[in-house]
Amino acid sequence: MKEIPNVLWLEEIKKEDIPSVGGKGASLGEMAAIGLPVPRAFVVTAQAFRRFLVEAGIEDKIFSRLGNLDVDDTAALESVSREVREIVLNAAMPDRIRQEIVEAYARMGGENTIVAVRSSATAEDLPDASFAGQQETFLNIVGDDALLDAVQRCWASLYGARAIYYRAKQGFDDRSVNIAVVVQELIPSEKSGVMFTSHPVTGEPLTIIEASWGLGEAVVSGSVSPDNYVFDLRTERVVDRLIAEKAIMIVPEGRHGTKTIQTPPEKRLAPVLSDDEVARLAMLGKIAEDHYGVPQDIEWAIVGEEIYILQSRPITTIKQPEARRAGETGKKRGALGTVILQGQGASPGVASGRVVIVHDVKDTSAVKEGDILVTTMTNPDMVPAMRRVSAIITDEGGMTCHAAIVSRELGTPAVVGTKKATKVLKDGQIVTVDGEKGLVYEGAVEAPAPAASKAAPAAVAAAPIITATLVKVNVSLPEAAARAAATGADGVGLLRIEHLILGLGKTPSWYIEHGAEEEFVTELYTGIKTVLDAFPGKPVWVRTLDAPTDEFRNMEGGEEEPIEHNPMLGWRGIRRDLETPDQFRLQVEAFKRLWAAGYDNLGVMFPMVNHPDEFTRARAMMRDWGVDVDNVTLGIMIEIPSSVVLIEDFIRAGIRFASFGTNDLIQYTLAIDRNNENVAWMYQPEHPAVLRLIDYAISACRRHGVECSICGQAGSDPRMVTWLVEHGISSVSANIDAVSRIREAVARKEKQILLDAARRDA
Ligand code: PEP
Ligand code: MG
Repeated sequence: MKEIPNVLWLEEIKKEDIPSVGGKGASLGEMAAIGLPVPRAFVVTAQAFRRFLVEAGIEDKIFSRLGNLDVDDTAALESVSREVREIVLNAAMPDRIRQEIVEAYARMGGENTIVAVRSSATAEDLPDASFAGQQETFLNIVGDDALLDAVQRCWASLYGARAIYYRAKQGFDDRSVNIAVVVQELIPSEKSGVMFTSHPVTGEPLTIIEASWGLGEAVVSGSVSPDNYVFDLRTERVVDRLIAEKAIMIVPEGRHGTKTIQTPPEKRLAPVLSDDEVARLAMLGKIAEDHYGVPQDIEWAIVGEEIYILQSRPITTIKQPEARRAGETGKKRGALGTVILQGQGASPGVASGRVVIVHDVKDTSAVKEGDILVTTMTNPDMVPAMRRVSAIITDEGGMTCHAAIVSRELGTPAVVGTKKATKVLKDGQIVTVDGEKGLVYEGAVEAPAPAASKAAPAAVAAAPIITATLVKVNVSLPEAAARAAATGADGVGLLRIEHLILGLGKTPSWYIEHGAEEEFVTELYTGIKTVLDAFPGKPVWVRTLDAPTDEFRNMEGGEEEPIEHNPMLGWRGIRRDLETPDQFRLQVEAFKRLWAAGYDNLGVMFPMVNHPDEFTRARAMMRDWGVDVDNVTLGIMIEIPSSVVLIEDFIRAGIRFASFGTNDLIQYTLAIDRNNENVAWMYQPEHPAVLRLIDYAISACRRHGVECSICGQAGSDPRMVTWLVEHGISSVSANIDAVSRIREAVARKEKQILLDAARRDA
């Protein structure tokens, strides 16, 4: 190796320095070299690492251990990896290297400068070999000592078990593998987002910019609907802008990561970017596109007047002009075209079709296969029509409303809470619904193919992820059972039977009054059995009826339903079953027959309990009707703060499990109607009061060995689930479309917990 300094600044990096600075360092250097405003950074070079090994006298110790290792012997691999990492961590960093790192950090601003410290591994003979993701990154590092410690930890991470194994299998000699460390200033973005330097579908010279307040994670992760700006590079003007309601923002939290907060009211509907900022961003995007020769997908951030470019990589979704649809004029704008409506993306997927506006269930006969159903809010009696359509749009509702739950189950794209779909859209109009982003586009536009990076290699997709925390799935319609089972879920954490019953078109009281009890029990038995059959040997928790009175009213027999001022707080859940024993008895009869048929994986869950007495009374009634209640699995939903406060009493009363119904728990804790789009932005699953209640109940269940789970919508949010696993939840239950990403989040958190424990013990 030629004499390369221990530290190189981005501006000093040249193409030939890749072996010294790794791929990450080189790509940042290249961006800086073409004049993009990259946050300040320096690289602790691979040579600094080699000098450290030599001067600390640890080279032989490390390579003799690695040389004798059989990487297929997992125990030996783990133990050598731990030993070698300890050698690296315990060796003294040479004074000269320490000093140069500290001096470089001081040049960046010193003690109060927050940096990210990232590994950038490289091999002498194969500098661009991909070791991505196998070494560590440390965010939010402040101060000399923390920085030096993080650099040394990055070095040690070169000898993680996975990295050693991978290199051995790829035929790399450990002696020739090096590691550089990138130290980069973290930008406390006031605004941030992503930009496509050309139209991602048509390739036209239109720069598309998505922007939101705070850190870029909010836009990149899709947790906020960002503003959308379109800049025409030919006329150098902003030609379209869509200002979204940005309900939340992600901001740094002290020195430890980030947190989500509500966007201050004055910023929520305010445009994030001025025209001048859009133009400046677009010009930077053009510099990158011209330099790399292909359209770029860029992450950016703004602090005060300063724009920063954080990352630039090629867009993978541009279609060639000949692949465009016939008749396309090319004047569409926005990520997929011209956005005409926005709401909450409630069920992912993109679909185009003809709008049919439904004001009343009687109108649903006009809904044909492939149409787009547009309505104020769906009702259970609209489910048959919902099965036929290619997408659903509603005026009202949030992520847990009827339309959202049923659409996710049917795998149909849906946008809810648009406030005005039934007024703005016209019968027969052709639109495209993006159920992930919550957008409705004019006309039929094509979705870009999924980015190449999203398509996992077959070997990875086929490998089952085993988690200690059970990952179950929610089901509402028996017809979705096969799709739910295909996720490989560890059981069903919630089977909502009201969707099954409401789909019958007649209320339970109609069956009772018309002497048709047997028909009702048979329908229930058959529907539940379909789900049990799809999950042989796995737990299936069936919830007793929980339909608010307003959902019954449109059904035959529903004429007598009381008109309630607030059905959410009304006659629903277990409180209604206890007062109408006949309705409860028919459900229990179906359960009894299923238990008798050998389905001992069936558990029964009572909804909306607010006092242990309700559980005790329900169980006593079941015993009276001949259920061997001591030998079947009975549990409760935790949906009301009172059931958290009294959780120990519920446990003493004999519940076998408890499952958080966060859809309701959040609304009853925060006094936010879950179906009211006017306050949807205040509906906060991560509100500290909600988290504290959940933590309290999990702890109590753990102390007493009672399974604690979640089946509300928050159980489909990877961020929330990560938190729940950290706090000791025993299982989670997600929507069908979310199971695989939830399983990944659970696995990652579990591994991190194990790793942290191993490091503490080491
Ligand atoms: C909940 O409240 O979180 C829940 C799962 O029940 P539902 O959405 O049916 O009220
Ligand atoms: Mg509920």
